[in-house]
Amino acid sequence: MMERCPVCRARFKQDPVCSRCGADLSSLLAIETEAAALERQAVVLLGVGQWIEARQAADRALALQHSPLALAVREFARRELLDRETGLIERLLQ
Ligand SMILES: [Zn+2]
Repeated sequence: MMERCPVCRARFKQDPVCSRCGADLSSLLAIETEAAALERQAVVLLGVGQWIEARQAADRALALQHSPLALAVREFARRELLDRETGLIERLLQ
């Protein structure tokens, strides 16, 4: 979650309007909420082995904001997809 106002760096409270500079942060908060939802979705998809969808959700989360969790999901899904492709090629070559 956002901890400081991106305009004046005042500590951020739950109010979508900054108490110090009055900046309206509601759209930023909406983006954060959406990114968090995409991040959760990516984790769920990863849990059920939907690698392509998990990676897409993680990508969309990362397009909205930086997230170590979404990065980890994307990397994990990428590796699983690679493994699957390698397995496919190996089977074709047998
Ligand atoms: Zn502010």
